[in-house]
Amino acid sequence: MALTSMEQTESVSDVLCDVCGNSTRVEGAAQFGTLCASWGYGSAHDGECYVVHLCEPCFFRTFSGLRRERMVNFMFSDEDQDLSDFGRVSRNDGGSSTS
Ligand SMILES: [Zn+2]
Repeated sequence: MALTSMEQTESVSDVLCDVCGNSTRVEGAAQFGTLCASWGYGSAHDGECYVVHLCEPCFFRTFSGLRRERMVNFMFSDEDQDLSDFGRVSRNDGGSSTS
């Protein structure tokens, strides 16, 4: 849920997590993940659009559920099961990150 402030130009001032309702603001900036889908012709949900904003804890709780599901689905396959980078498309190792 995006909250806007009424200033000269309307801007997003905060994004509330759609799961826990907490603000996603961290040091002045909204930090959130988005789960979205826009289903088209031929799909069971044709014409439906979904957007869910997730704070960091809710995102990674959801994310670990997906990763677990992936692990179970490929449990008996010969495919490499290193899921440490599951879903991650980039990582900025610069700055003050301690991870
Ligand atoms: Zn949350």
